[in-house]
Amino acid sequence: MDDIFNRRQSILIADVQVNGRIADIFVKDDGTIGAIGEGIRKEHKGEAGLIIDGNGAIALAGLVNTHSHAAMSLLRGYADDMILQDWLSQKIWPLEAHLTPSDVYQGTKLACLEMIRSGTVAFNDMYFMMEEAARAVSEAGIRATLSYGYIDLFSPEKREAECRATEDLVRTIRSLDNPRINAAVGPHAIYTVSPEGLRWCAEFAAEQKIGIHIHLSETKKEVNDCIARHGKRPAAYLDDCGILTPKTVAAHCCWLDEAECTLLSKRGVSVSHNPSSNMKLATNRAMPYPWLKDAGVNVCLGTDGCASNNNLDIFGEAKTAALLQKFSWNNPTILPAHEALAMATVNGAKGLGLASGTLVAGAPADIILVTARTACNTPLHNATSNLVYSCNGGTVETTICDGRVLMLEREVPGEEQILAEAGKAAQELVWRAQSA
Ligand SMILES: [Zn+2]
Repeated sequence: MDDIFNRRQSILIADVQVNGRIADIFVKDDGTIGAIGEGIRKEHKGEAGLIIDGNGAIALAGLVNTHSHAAMSLLRGYADDMILQDWLSQKIWPLEAHLTPSDVYQGTKLACLEMIRSGTVAFNDMYFMMEEAARAVSEAGIRATLSYGYIDLFSPEKREAECRATEDLVRTIRSLDNPRINAAVGPHAIYTVSPEGLRWCAEFAAEQKIGIHIHLSETKKEVNDCIARHGKRPAAYLDDCGILTPKTVAAHCCWLDEAECTLLSKRGVSVSHNPSSNMKLATNRAMPYPWLKDAGVNVCLGTDGCASNNNLDIFGEAKTAALLQKFSWNNPTILPAHEALAMATVNGAKGLGLASGTLVAGAPADIILVTARTACNTPLHNATSNLVYSCNGGTVETTICDGRVLMLEREVPGEEQILAEAGKAAQELVWRAQSA
């Protein structure tokens, strides 16, 4: 049975619900969708290496998580319900100081497992020791854009080290020659990176033709400090540094004003909305979705790190986003279900420069099957409504990425070992920090 997993093969998904109709999907052994439509199984049955019965399931493009710190899954539940600054300085940073490369590998393996089990096939990750994250992603079989979290704390010496670390990661990822893994440049935020550091990141990303992943306007303090120091708001300041590009993903963006939304649109920046993290850490303002939508900005979804969420379920994030926007604008028509689902799929793929995100012939075969034979999908008046408002990632039964089956009928090979090793690594990390 194991030999059907994590390898390219031609696959026929028969009798599955796609956009409200029953159809078949044929996946070619080059990892793309060969055909999709009613009755195509007759034509392709003979050549399919694997036939999946899609009866009773809904097919959807694989979900995309556009802002994460995957290895922080080891910190899940370690510290909650605290003020952001205390949470970071008293709990998160002291523990992170003891992280080893092996921890980053185990934490990212655990995160990939959780993503596969909840239908996410690609993620945009910023952390450190990312060579280990790349190893985990490579084994897991999903897609990732990986960036080293560049933090120079306004020190010229540290800046040099951060530039070298960024260059090293890009070189390592290039040498892997894995089309599922891309590198990006990850200037952490305007309050942790000097203007010289930001400019270097912008130039290096342009020279390497790769993306930029940054936190933007998460808190009001960030905006106020930026105005005091630079005489302008964060988006305008980042634009001066060259950071805003069509390959840039800006996470959070809670405190943007309308002019900043227009600027992000002009520059083609994608915005990653992280509603659970923002609510848990009480950023006190929701990302202004209506302004971004009016300006034509590509808005996608992210979970942020597992310590501030505390899971990686993009279905949950789609619902939370829709509810948070309605609540904060006092208007239930804002962010309807179909827009929330687009944020989780096609918009996310666009943000990461991926050709996936929709189920059409010729697209990469990033496909998930959600069971319809479950309480949250009964009745099925409107699949989009159920997927966003009623179901969660636990209803995903099968996950296919790049034409490879990563989960079939809830089975992911090696799951028990991943859980055991990640649990052990997390426990030992806490012991190390406590005995230091
Ligand atoms: Zn973050």
